[in-house]
Amino acid sequence: MAPIFRSTTLSARFTGNHLLRKHRIHPLVVGSHQSKHDRQAKVSVLCLDTPLDVISRCYSKPPALPGPTPHPQWSIHHPNSWNWSSGDIITYLERWCSNPSDDIENMVDRQELRQLYNRIVQPSCERGTPFVAGTTSPLIYLTVGHGRGSCIPITEFYTAMGWIISKVESHGTHPLDYCKILATYAKWCHTIWKDLFPGTCVPTTASIKVVALPSGVSHGSARHSFWVSTSLPHANLKEEARLIREKYMHDLFGRLPDAPIYVEAIKQGEDCGRVKWGHCAETLTTMCSYFHVSFPGLMCGVTIKLKPVAKAPKYMQVTFKNAALEACDNCKTMMKHAKIVYNDWYHQG
Ligand SMILES: [Zn+2]
Repeated sequence: MAPIFRSTTLSARFTGNHLLRKHRIHPLVVGSHQSKHDRQAKVSVLCLDTPLDVISRCYSKPPALPGPTPHPQWSIHHPNSWNWSSGDIITYLERWCSNPSDDIENMVDRQELRQLYNRIVQPSCERGTPFVAGTTSPLIYLTVGHGRGSCIPITEFYTAMGWIISKVESHGTHPLDYCKILATYAKWCHTIWKDLFPGTCVPTTASIKVVALPSGVSHGSARHSFWVSTSLPHANLKEEARLIREKYMHDLFGRLPDAPIYVEAIKQGEDCGRVKWGHCAETLTTMCSYFHVSFPGLMCGVTIKLKPVAKAPKYMQVTFKNAALEACDNCKTMMKHAKIVYNDWYHQG
């Protein structure tokens, strides 16, 4: 059987390669790369405004709603999903990845899901850490894409789970649906961390970004596309993961300037290790959205502090609103560089 992924050698275009060579990091899977010039030429976007109390008025309902999920009991939309145990959550991931439904039509997508489960989800749970150490390289990671190239680096459990959710779940019909998806994802991250990774730190933030797919490009029957991700958790191998994220950021967006918060921290003589490119939850969600927006690209969404939302007894709008964060200077610069206009549902631009 022909390999699903087209392996290729990392090219000199990957401007952050020296960082990875230094740390002997190699991706398990590198698909064909897609530059920003290859992106969709014309994409309609959700018309959303801020703050949330006006979202209902300006949100245009998509004409084709996604059909019922083939595993209705294993959906983030399930009424009890907030209180799922870590075992339930792993079962959810295992079921979707090992037996992707017919809704996941693309074979590359199916293969990606299986790889994510086998190479990251399962081993991280077995080893009790969100990052999986390799035998020949410090960190095992995978690159995924949208069936059109693989340049989104998945470096640990939490973003693997986020990618899987983004791929398999039916989409919201209202921004509040997406807020609930993000909150439940945050809750699941917290549940997994508490039960399986107690020796590490839970990610501090989680983010969701939403765009509209151009007609004919959507997967399944859904029209809109969303992505969820966390910030990198403090744990062994975090810096290796950050370097990988940074490398792919430079490659996808074009060479980024030094991260502004990092530059400022240097000026102030402060510890700057935590403010370089790649830490933030917005990193991957913005990279994913980038595939589906064109200049002047517009993506919508929100980022939250993970813990206060996850520790609530259920999804509560007031808790969510209080946990909503404005994009940091690094992320604003990243989005500006990528020519993406960000419509933050909770903060005026
Ligand atoms: Zn940020």
